[in-house]
Amino acid sequence: MLLNMKQLLKVAKEHKFAVGAFNVADSNFLRVVVEEAEENNSPAIIAVHPDELKFVKDEFFTYVLNRMKGSPVPFVLHLDHGDSLASVMRAIHAGFSSVMIDGSLLPFEENIKLTKQVVDISHLVNVSVEGELGTIGNTGTTIEGGVTKVIYTKPEDAREFVEKTGVDTLAVAIGTCHGIYPKDVKPKLRMDVLKSIKEVVDIPLVLHGGSSNPDSEIAEAVKIGIQKVNISSDYKFAFYKKCRQILSETELWDPNAIYPECIDAAKDVVRKKMQLFGSIGKAEIYKLENIPSWRSEFN
Ligand SMILES: [Zn+2]
Repeated sequence: MLLNMKQLLKVAKEHKFAVGAFNVADSNFLRVVVEEAEENNSPAIIAVHPDELKFVKDEFFTYVLNRMKGSPVPFVLHLDHGDSLASVMRAIHAGFSSVMIDGSLLPFEENIKLTKQVVDISHLVNVSVEGELGTIGNTGTTIEGGVTKVIYTKPEDAREFVEKTGVDTLAVAIGTCHGIYPKDVKPKLRMDVLKSIKEVVDIPLVLHGGSSNPDSEIAEAVKIGIQKVNISSDYKFAFYKKCRQILSETELWDPNAIYPECIDAAKDVVRKKMQLFGSIGKAEIYKLENIPSWRSEFN
């Protein structure tokens, strides 16, 4: 079933678990996430960055939406790091149920203005919106950007931002970075910052750059009040590590011969993340609570 982010994370917040948002840029990775979610009766978010959208083309989402809507497990199709009103409109046109507008590099007032504009338009068609405040660092290994130094989200700014924009969820900067960390860099999450934000903001909070942080830190952040964790590098890395091994050891060239083991390697990572976030088995709650699929209320 397809939900928007507000519907999906309301349940996660009430039942104190987080849902993984996995970046997808082809049908192999879609299978990894969707099949593993169904296998574990877990909700999941398919996240697509504007660069990934450009790569797969809009028609790809006919297949994605068909797959999600036909599944008994709840899914959200979400634009990750939308960079303009145009990229948000393209995603909505392709059938996305949720979008992110990332104005975190803009001055505070301009971030509010852009985010509010996206909220006003998206809410007209029941599409939920994620905003971002503070900046999430960049390890230099991803397309998602960010800055090299993390600027922590200020709790008082977070409250003002949420009130003025009407966003449904908020990505906060508490010390994670996009990408996989170099061996000499030790990521450190600021739980005190997260707790202070939690005290003044009531909407679900999002953690970006969740790859490579120690499991114990992620679990603690979920306990304090993170409802969505973005995962990209970790599981793509596992897929292509297996792929490189197969290609270097064999002369295979058929995708159907090469990819199954790669899919399995990436699925192992996804399952471990679902365990860590506490989302395994939670698809049941959506059924019990009779959460209507996206737009059925709206239509
Ligand atoms: Zn991100």
